[in-house]
Amino acid sequence: MTGSYPSVAAFIQAERPEIPVHLLRPRRIEAMARAFVAGFPGDTLYAVKCNAHPLVLETMRRAGIRHFDVASPMEIERVAQCVPEGVMFYHHPAKTPGQIGLAWRSGVRFFAVDCLAELEKVAGLTDGNMRPVVRLAIPKGSGAVYDLSTKFGAPPEIFEAVLRRAAGMGLKPTATFHVGSQCLDPQAFRLGLELACRSIDRSGIGIDWMDIGGGFPAYYRLTRAPPLPAYFEAIAQAHRELTAPRGIRLACEPGRALMAEGGSLLARINLRKPDAVYLNDGIFGGLTETYWGKDQLSLPFRLLDSQGRLKAGPAGSFTAFGPTCDGNDKLPWPLDLPENAAEGDYVEFNLIGAYGREMAARYNGMASERVAVIDADFAGHQSVEAF
Ligand SMILES: *Cc1c(COP(=O)(O)O)cnc(C)c1O
Repeated sequence: MTGSYPSVAAFIQAERPEIPVHLLRPRRIEAMARAFVAGFPGDTLYAVKCNAHPLVLETMRRAGIRHFDVASPMEIERVAQCVPEGVMFYHHPAKTPGQIGLAWRSGVRFFAVDCLAELEKVAGLTDGNMRPVVRLAIPKGSGAVYDLSTKFGAPPEIFEAVLRRAAGMGLKPTATFHVGSQCLDPQAFRLGLELACRSIDRSGIGIDWMDIGGGFPAYYRLTRAPPLPAYFEAIAQAHRELTAPRGIRLACEPGRALMAEGGSLLARINLRKPDAVYLNDGIFGGLTETYWGKDQLSLPFRLLDSQGRLKAGPAGSFTAFGPTCDGNDKLPWPLDLPENAAEGDYVEFNLIGAYGREMAARYNGMASERVAVIDADFAGHQSVEAF
């Protein structure tokens, strides 16, 4: 199971793992969560999909997070186990009757909807205490690496119709949107708030609560985004001008920004060739998101020898292949590793706490799911000070 070590070197010396290992850093998770709880002008929900490990949920709880964005029965059960007093928001806009029933019996009262059909489906399986969370789509090009409004979210006319229908059913609707993941421009949140307020005014339905989604960035090697406090400040100002005067409280539901720094991935070099390394993990395992994000998600990394000591020196450019027999199993960017990189060394990729282990498949019988706990931070990549 999960071992706990003061440092990555101590872990490597103790275990010399041949399988990939996700190194969780509860101290860092707690620091990021506390930064959100203290800095965001409203409630912070944790978007469970980016990392549902029990230790992560327990650490969020310790940091003061009590609200959770969930999207499946597994995530609901996990939160119910790890944070029994947690308040859950079922923020998946396309649910089955069985999923709705299970969520309702588990105490979930907030359900995302982005069309009349889903509103009526959920309302028909619940009672007057159900709170519809009506999701508004955000136009493309608002500054995020991933657009999340092509799949979910209602255009303004439908958003307004769903709000009115929900109120007509005697329900108290709330609103949400998601600017897209890895959003590089704080003003995207203001734009979302402006659009939502305009639609809410047009609908004539008063709401008391609005969830402005996730999308806060993590700081990858090539990320050019303002620091998190700049996002909090832009949102606080928009709140003072737009939502507070309308009596609306804010919430956010970050995944990536809360968790990316909370975990790294320890991958072993299984074979070294002159210009290539063959790693024991890749784009079908813990590095899946790298395939989609390409340079935008270029991960900080460091090379450690088989004793866990940092290896430095003049760097060469290496193609990095993953472990499966699939020719596509290759990182989208070369690794500039020291020339003396050797079989049995480890590459530690940082910022893999979000969308790392959760996305891993088991292609070729190769899993990326082992977890170990490390006290020490990954040197040099902290976006907020440890407390
Ligand atoms: C994935 C997701 C999030 C988290 O997004 P990040 O970009 O990781 O912050 C929040 N809300 C919903 C509804 C999501 O699907």
